[in-house]
Amino acid sequence: MSLTNITIIGGGACGISAFIELFLQLRIAKSHREVSITIIEENQEVGKGLAFGTKQPGHILNTQADLMGIHFSEPQHFSDWLIEHDARIGDEVVDNQGENKAFTTRRLYGDYLKEQFEHYFALAQKEGMDVQVIHACATKVHQQESGFTVDLAGNTQHSCDFLVLSPGTPVADNYPQLNDKEHYFGSPWPSDPILEKIPKEADVAILGSSLSAIDALMTLTDNDYQGKITCYSPDGLMPRVQPEEQDMIDCKFLTLKKLHEIQRNELRNPTVKEIFRLFKEEAEAYAGGKIDWKATARTGKPAEKLLEEDIEIARNGGDALSNIPYSLRYESSEMWKWLDESEKLKFKKWFGTYWAVNRHCMPLINAERVNKLFTSKQLQVVPGLKEVAFDDGRQSFVLTHGDGREVLEKFVINATGPASAVKLMKSELMQNLAKDGLIEPEDVGGIKINTETMQVITGKSVYPNFYAIGHITNGLLLDVNAVWFNVKMIGNLSRHLISQIIGNPS
Ligand SMILES: Cc1cc2nc3c(=O)[nH]c(=O)nc-3n(C[C@H](O)[C@H](O)[C@H](O)COP(=O)(O)OP(=O)(O)OC[C@H]3O[C@@H](n4cnc5c(N)ncnc54)[C@H](O)[C@@H]3O)c2cc1C
Repeated sequence: MSLTNITIIGGGACGISAFIELFLQLRIAKSHREVSITIIEENQEVGKGLAFGTKQPGHILNTQADLMGIHFSEPQHFSDWLIEHDARIGDEVVDNQGENKAFTTRRLYGDYLKEQFEHYFALAQKEGMDVQVIHACATKVHQQESGFTVDLAGNTQHSCDFLVLSPGTPVADNYPQLNDKEHYFGSPWPSDPILEKIPKEADVAILGSSLSAIDALMTLTDNDYQGKITCYSPDGLMPRVQPEEQDMIDCKFLTLKKLHEIQRNELRNPTVKEIFRLFKEEAEAYAGGKIDWKATARTGKPAEKLLEEDIEIARNGGDALSNIPYSLRYESSEMWKWLDESEKLKFKKWFGTYWAVNRHCMPLINAERVNKLFTSKQLQVVPGLKEVAFDDGRQSFVLTHGDGREVLEKFVINATGPASAVKLMKSELMQNLAKDGLIEPEDVGGIKINTETMQVITGKSVYPNFYAIGHITNGLLLDVNAVWFNVKMIGNLSRHLISQIIGNPS
């Protein structure tokens, strides 16, 4: 009798978390000998992926350790692992060593993921389960009568009964006209090409000023680059700073209860305007009085000045604008689901930037390093970027700003961050899935899914055996760029998928 095969495309943090949870639940249900699991991973190493495959010491987690556990319902697991292995890995803990809120290098976290995967892969084999890793790039998927066939680079194919898409965070292909330019780097990761091709004394342009740009800055700084570094972005805004002792707020106004009251009394979903009104009430209650909201505007203010202020605020426990989003870590995803698509689009348009800089702050240790770059005048942040082109005559990149100013640069790193929209995702697989109608891109970003079971949806039909996890589900889900959230969704996905194999509803 042939085994039922579950295939996971992508062996990064999400892929291995799904592998482990599926193995555990099948083993517990004593069905592990009737099911096989295959991971298709294009890299030689499983577990590392884009985020945690970096070798750079300055690329650190932007989430504290006790939220990074890779096992369902055990966010603490990584922090416990750190303490248990302190003697072996202590040097890679960059802040709050020995504490739950430790910050480590991302390369250490990648080692943790690899170690966890190798342990449970060996245990699954020892328990008699058929498990395998295919090191190849999945390029296309064909839906069969039951199940799927996956095309792999190198003209081989793999068939499966259940398919889990977890390709991670495809790089944004938002400057395709520059892709063939020698000194254009489409992403800050991997850093090797940047270090090989950019001379240490060269001036460097970074497109973007978000967390991805901070990574690019750390790569250059950790490798002793001496030239001027300029971050160009439309709004010139950098992430704010995570407080060491984050003041978590017991929200009274912006709560699921308040939003459900709106659903119950108005028989409709809440609007962004209502959410912002509740946010302002929450912030003023926390601040103990009226807030001059105009003064909280950040665009047009010098990034170095804002950073200095933010470091001070972070040293004093943070403020309402960052502490409320962090305090709503576990509710905000649910609140996001309760917004109609038109309201989600409004939120991204009206508050997207402010949510990003306040909810995805940089750790204090990196903020202080960036501040030194401002103080030494090596770094500047220039707002108003409109377009980037390459001028063959001047053999330079021409960066044009909204006010018409043009700046010439020789070396450009695209650190504008991951693509939200499927069409901008630099992934042959994702483009083929969209072209073949096996996925349906959402206007708000990512693909259409059932946000409870993580099953893929096209039109009105839910695939019974096709699931997705991670960044490609940004849009309908909020916190997909956080391991804790993805692991939570993987718990739901695994239970639903397995209930379809062993027949009893989860
Ligand atoms: C730079 C960066 C830093 C981040 N830092 C944090 C952090 O500090 N804390 C946090 O919680 N989250 C962080 N995130 C968010 C992170 O993306 C998510 O947490 C996510 O869970 C990562 O796991 P993943 O499996 O989705 O992606 P990845 O770990 O990137 O894994 C995806 C895997 O899929 C493989 N793959 C992709 N396409 C194919 C294909 N077609 N065929 C075969 N293999 C394929 C890739 O090689 C990769 O190994 C960060 C993200 C980025 C980009």
